[in-house]
Amino acid sequence: MLKKIFKKTPGKSKQIAKRDHKIQLEQTSKAARDICERLQSKGHQAYMVGGCIRDLLSGINPKDFDVATSATPEQVVRLFSRARIIGRRFRIVHVRQGRELIEVTTFRAHHTQGKDRHGKQSDSGMLVRDNVYGSLEEDAMRRDFTCNAFYFDPSNETLYDMCNGFADLKDGILQTIGDPYERFKEDPVRMLRAIRFESKLDLELDEESQDALSINRHMLSEVSPARLFDEVIKVLMTAHADVAYNMLVETRLFDQLFPASAEAIEIDAGTARFVELAMRNTVDRIQQDKGVAPFFLYAAILWPPTKLAYEEFTQGGMSPFEAMEAAGRMTMERQLPRITIPKRFTLPIMEVWKLQTLLPRTTAKRAARTADHPRFRAAYDFLLLREESGEDTENLGHWWTEYQKTNPVSKKEFSNSKAGGKNRRRRRRPNRNRAESGNNDSGNKESGNS
Ligand code: ATP
Ligand code: MG
Repeated sequence: MLKKIFKKTPGKSKQIAKRDHKIQLEQTSKAARDICERLQSKGHQAYMVGGCIRDLLSGINPKDFDVATSATPEQVVRLFSRARIIGRRFRIVHVRQGRELIEVTTFRAHHTQGKDRHGKQSDSGMLVRDNVYGSLEEDAMRRDFTCNAFYFDPSNETLYDMCNGFADLKDGILQTIGDPYERFKEDPVRMLRAIRFESKLDLELDEESQDALSINRHMLSEVSPARLFDEVIKVLMTAHADVAYNMLVETRLFDQLFPASAEAIEIDAGTARFVELAMRNTVDRIQQDKGVAPFFLYAAILWPPTKLAYEEFTQGGMSPFEAMEAAGRMTMERQLPRITIPKRFTLPIMEVWKLQTLLPRTTAKRAARTADHPRFRAAYDFLLLREESGEDTENLGHWWTEYQKTNPVSKKEFSNSKAGGKNRRRRRRPNRNRAESGNNDSGNKESGNS
């Protein structure tokens, strides 16, 4: 009960001195420091704010620095030569300093506290516009979690801890500012942000917020599909993708985001394992400084329903390539109303899936063509994950691993030789010839076009 009262009226802000917060100025962005200094020199309040300070306190290198100020966007723009106002939902100013880009936001108030009409809520209580300016205290209250309501003043190196986030971080607790039911309802993306911060910072959402999340999870469907595309990437394309994924599944937020995948995973345990492995693979790649691509992430998450439909279509007599194309299209049709996956990603996703049906064709000519495909490497990695998750591909991954090791001159020989085929257990498939000949045209086109 006490906790509840506290949550609704967070304690007074605390000033934390350098000896306690231990943030060194050199750890902060020079551009953000300069911007704060300039704004302050003109009589405005200005602080480094939010995630960057939270990360520094957690021993993590912040990926970007944000500044919060009492100056209005118009006042900010007038003070910097390379600055422009962006956004409608949240008007912010992008200020370029050297090579850095700093987001400068004007203090905002929760719209019900404001005096003008620049804030707006939908019928379900969702905040659709939030441009009511306010004081620093009000600005802190409209932020999502206590550990995101830090304000650092570089001029005196004082940390303003507005909602007890310092103690929460120390205790490993993630809690919303104010009533979690209201805060999640106001902006359901905060539920995804909760998973992001829990996994990234090894925090645990407090019990009341957990309950609120489970009650409000269906509200995710009210978030604009375009916004969800980025948010999913922010949660899952990280060095904690595996933990975050498990949390999404446990909280059933995953069902809200990817209903077709959630259903398919229930039916086919192998695909559940596949997605888990893909998440672990993401973690490994990030830890090894290898690239991770959004299209690969989405291709993996959407593989379970695609695979099920593919199997159904091939059993119904379609050729593998056609079946995959139809299955992929079906998955996309179901997914796109939930999450807008831009076309520049849906195309490579489809390519990776379709290549799964071309990889088994290992004659010299075919193999060379497949290996030349711009998505070959991704498709090969995808194949290895399928095998690792228990799918029987007749040792195809090993074949392609060996194929890539041979030098270009001997590749033709390799594909035609016994050695090339030695490690593959060939199994006769009914209709194999018919399926292959049915494939030829589309296969060629696919490789040639991309
Ligand atoms: P990251 O390290 O991923 O950038 P972040 O906390 O900095 O995490 P941003 O999206 O950069 O996330 O947001 C900056 C700050 O703005 C947050 O720390 C938080 O105070 C506030 N904020 C961002 N999104 C929301 C939201 N949906 N609701 C309330 N406050 C938010
Ligand atoms: Mg940030």
